[in-house]
Order: sequence, then C-alpha cells, then structure tokens
Amino acid sequence: MMYTKYMVLLMLYFFKAGGKQMSIIYEPKGKALEYSELAVNLFSGCSHECTYCYCPSIRRMTLEKWAKNPHPRKNVLKLLVNDAKKICGDKREILLSFMSDPYHSAEASKYTHDALEIMEKYNLRVQILTKNPQDALKDIEIIKRNNWKIATTAIFFTESKKKEFEKNTPSMDSRFMAMNIFNKNKIKTWVSIEPIIDLEEAMLVINRMKVVDLIKIGRWNYDKRANEINWEYVADQTSSLCRSLNVSYYIKNDLFKYANDKTRLFGQSWKSKNKK
Ligand code: SF4
Repeated sequence: MMYTKYMVLLMLYFFKAGGKQMSIIYEPKGKALEYSELAVNLFSGCSHECTYCYCPSIRRMTLEKWAKNPHPRKNVLKLLVNDAKKICGDKREILLSFMSDPYHSAEASKYTHDALEIMEKYNLRVQILTKNPQDALKDIEIIKRNNWKIATTAIFFTESKKKEFEKNTPSMDSRFMAMNIFNKNKIKTWVSIEPIIDLEEAMLVINRMKVVDLIKIGRWNYDKRANEINWEYVADQTSSLCRSLNVSYYIKNDLFKYANDKTRLFGQSWKSKNKK
C-alpha cells in the first residue's frame, strides 16, 4: 500500500468512528478518505520492506527496523471485538490496512483471518488491500459470502523493477493471477497503482489488470525523483488507456490537480459501462 504523509498522520490521530470512542477501528480524515471511510491496522511493521513506504518515518524508525520485527498490535483482536460490537451493522467500509500488509506473513494472515471472522460476526463491511492477494485466496469464501472487496497494489509489471523498490513482496504474476481468480468468483476487485514510479510499467499493469472493477491511480510523493516526472502526461496516458480498455478508474487528488483539459473532461472518477 501507499499513502501520503498527510494521510498517515491523520490516520494516527483519529480513532473515533460514528461519534463512538474506538480503540482500533478509526475514521481516517482528509486524503485518507480517498481510500476508505473506516480502517483498522492489525500489525505494527511489515516484512515487505518497500523502499517507498512512509510508515517508518511516521513511526520514526528506519525501514530496516520497520521490516525486521513486525508484530501484532497489543490485544488487537480483543480490541477489535469491542470496537466491532460498538459499530455493529455499520455500512461504511473498513480498510485492512493503511499500515502494514494484512498478508505480509503467515502470522499476519492468521490475524487477518480471525479479524475477518470478527467483522463478519458483527455484520461489518470490509475491503482488503494487499500485495499478497494469492494468500488472501484462503479467505475467498468469507470475502465472497459477505460481498466484500479485495484490492492489490501493483505499480510494476516486471520483476526486476519490482525488486528494486519492493524487496520482499510476492511476484507480480502471483498478484495478477490471484486478482483474476477473485474476479472470476464475482468478487469486487480494485487495484492501486500508487505511487507511479515508472509510467511504462504502470501502463503495462493497467493492461494486465483490466479485469478488475476499478483502478486507482496516484502519483509518487516525498521523493525528489518524482519532480522529474511529467504528471500531466501521466494522468493523461493512464486515464486514456483505462478508457480505451473500458476499465473504471479514479485519479487520486494529488495527481488529478495536474490533469489537463482532456483528462478533466472525463472527470476524476470515470465508470466503465461493464461494471459488475
Ligand atoms: S506493503 Fe508493507 S512495507 Fe510495503 S508500503 Fe505497505 S506497509 Fe509499507
């Protein structure tokens, strides 16, 4: 996953939902709302070790430290039960997760599965964002019967490029194949192409991911190399390709502000007629 500094700072400081004091489910504010109205983070740390991850700086630690010892947050499932009871039946979607990947390790997968069962019990709506959708296939039944959503982040197409920025993440092929399976099972799917680091790679991802229900497109922030990229061109090219493939897309605010007249004509959020 990728998120802006502003988003994450807000996420850390807002732990209320629907006016009820919550411990672990929270309402992201500001830019984080572009992803989800509610969210929950089960883990601290993430073994995927993406070089563009903003979490280490939020937590004031190095990326190595962030990736070295990921662990479940204290009493996380107990706290989740308490929060879930308070908002039982809430129609807003809860994102797993902004910080850490819900399937970054076998232990994380186990916690995620238990968390999904809790959220099912309390009739909550979930969307999962992971770079390991293949592992999420273990939870396909619970996702399907609750009509939840599954998403993956895919910013590279070629393995060598991916390896440069995402040291320990699962292969791109595994993500593409898993998303196809979710799609064939009529589960709502989306892909996050954020941060776009290499336009050519992003275009290849769009082509490969055209089966998903929605593509979210976002720019690269907080790296001076991003200043060398023509963001107007990126917004134009990625959105044009989505339209030509008839895939719904959403251009994140940070990128849409660079959009040219043509891109604006179609809007920040464009819906394909083939939507499920
Ligand atoms: S997958 Fe893990 S390391 Fe990569 S950006 Fe997300 S939280 Fe950070």
